[in-house]
Amino acid sequence: MKRIFCVCLLSLVVASAAIAQNGSGARSNDEPALPYIPGLDVTSMDKSVDPCVDLYHYSCGAWQKKNPIPPDQTSWSVYGKLYQDNLMFLRGILEQAGSSTAQRDAVTQKIGDFYASCMDESTAEKRGIAAIRPQLDAIAALESVREMALLVARLQLPFGRTILFAAGSTQDPDNSEQEIADLDQGGLGLPDRDYYTKEDAKSKEIRERYVQHVQKVFELLGDSSQTAKQNAETILRMETVLAKASWTQVERRDPYKLKNKMKLAELSQLAPNFDWQTYYREMQYPAVEILNVDAPAFYKQMSAELTSEPLANWKNYFRFHVADQYSPFLSASFVQENFDFYRKYLRGAKEMQQRWRRCVQYTDYNLGEALGQVYVRRVFSPELKASTLDMVDRIEAAMGQRIRQLDWMSPETKQQALTKLAAIRNKIGYPDKWRDYSSLKIAHDDLAGNIQRAAEFEEHRQINKIGKPVDHGEWDISPPTVDAYYNPQMNDINFPAGVLQPPLYDAKMDDAPNYGDTGGTIGHELTHGFDDEGSQFDAKGNLKNWWTKEDREKFDARTKCVADQYSQYVMVDDVHINGELTLGENVADLGGEILAFMAWKDATKDKNLQPIDGLTPEQRFFVGFAQWDCANMRDEDLRVRAMTDPHSSAQYRINGVVVNMPEFAGAFSCKAGQPMVNPPEKVCKVW
Ligand SMILES: [Zn+2]
Repeated sequence: MKRIFCVCLLSLVVASAAIAQNGSGARSNDEPALPYIPGLDVTSMDKSVDPCVDLYHYSCGAWQKKNPIPPDQTSWSVYGKLYQDNLMFLRGILEQAGSSTAQRDAVTQKIGDFYASCMDESTAEKRGIAAIRPQLDAIAALESVREMALLVARLQLPFGRTILFAAGSTQDPDNSEQEIADLDQGGLGLPDRDYYTKEDAKSKEIRERYVQHVQKVFELLGDSSQTAKQNAETILRMETVLAKASWTQVERRDPYKLKNKMKLAELSQLAPNFDWQTYYREMQYPAVEILNVDAPAFYKQMSAELTSEPLANWKNYFRFHVADQYSPFLSASFVQENFDFYRKYLRGAKEMQQRWRRCVQYTDYNLGEALGQVYVRRVFSPELKASTLDMVDRIEAAMGQRIRQLDWMSPETKQQALTKLAAIRNKIGYPDKWRDYSSLKIAHDDLAGNIQRAAEFEEHRQINKIGKPVDHGEWDISPPTVDAYYNPQMNDINFPAGVLQPPLYDAKMDDAPNYGDTGGTIGHELTHGFDDEGSQFDAKGNLKNWWTKEDREKFDARTKCVADQYSQYVMVDDVHINGELTLGENVADLGGEILAFMAWKDATKDKNLQPIDGLTPEQRFFVGFAQWDCANMRDEDLRVRAMTDPHSSAQYRINGVVVNMPEFAGAFSCKAGQPMVNPPEKVCKVW
């Protein structure tokens, strides 16, 4: 699997989990522009709260009151709001691109026609399940388990890589300069394997509701209600077998558990009932000599299940997954059922997002670097790039200083850490070289075809990397994305143009809130290279230990302090934060803010800073930090996140950090014993 660690998980979800706002839908003929929201907004604060008791509600209390969760949202936040404003802005670009057919360059034609085809609801309605008829026919024609490899390949190519299992390419964990084939667990309809195994009342209820959803999809495919119900129960049983053989989210954070390199012959021994030769040939992989199997137990179990379940059950399994994954692009009844289960029931949204919002997201998901070319021309100036790079340089310098000063680390390990730090690639704004979509055909009147061809294009792009040197210029998210990430195998940090906009980065604002917010995010991504997971990769991105045994033990004791602290926090009802699942993100949040504070102090050491709006410079740093994550969240959404999201919930991403920072206590003159001040023996300090 590809490991990327984001600052938040907003925009990596499309289709069934996509995010949207209930907007006015107002259109403008003017040149589209992003609205301006200041990087520190005193009107969002609630000054009746004592910051030494609760910094988060002090900084965000009024924001929370002024920003109820829109009915079609599962949560609402500063990031979410910027994401939605961005969608509106992108909509303007896409409508312009789609409105004329004359004299368009290739990029404008692709994004304009893709969006136009998506907005053409009546064609999708008329076509109905004809859009997936060829796949349903191929499933019906299946006659033996042996033929299944061919079928799975033909379903995975146009429908994405998670039908039955997830396949693609990855950097070799031992040689980060080479790409190899990769197989990961998959095949489930619910968001995580734990949904199938947990025995509490809520989990049982979710499984019952899932069976009803599966039944409904079978009915939409034409099954009688009796048959559909039986089929749905079979699907749950079959998926439960796969779920039990899958790694948990916490296990998946151990890169050594996921590293299982083998030859094709060994894979055929591990999972003998699946014809891997045929599968790889049909998918057009180059000769696969060695591949990585992230979850061997899953493949062993899957293979056994292929023959223990009657073929008729597998046919139903494939019918359901093809229809379920493709539902967002089919007729209204499929779209509605997909929303009703995945967003309304599971995550608590009240209304479906408007079609244009979904269509902008699908365009970004499928043609991100085409849409991104137009986007960055409008919103990302060379000055913005230069000022961000200056901030990155200062934060990396702070990290270097921090490493040299650590009192618990030996000189040998420090040298390795500094080498790794110096090797990090900083990628800001957008890729140096744009992805070439020229071989991808996009038609203005064929949404189903566009989606399938785009999926196949992406599939082949991933497969074609195998056996070739790694492209270090590649990005895993599109330029308009409101998020950032660190990739330990690439050893790079990536900040797309979308995340460098106000209020997250506000060129009109003083340095303090910008360093508290975007500076903290840069520090966060940087720290991922040195969190409990990222620190297991070396400067080149190889999974290779560079620590002395003693230093590693001391490091583990320090991260355990963080895990223990966050495990005490309650997310919803009696559901606590999983301190192990969120450890890497919490270490990054803490390290990021410490580095940002150091870098800010350095950047402003010759300036005579004065209070603004009744806040001292130090207070503005911390309020700017807290306001990056002002949020309201639905209980349902918090439950899903508790199981699947490696990030803590908003208030603890703020308060959980500052309790460990004496700089914060100093800024607000907080006293020992107050809630935002950990007693000295409980202060967590990693980097
Ligand atoms: Zn992160």
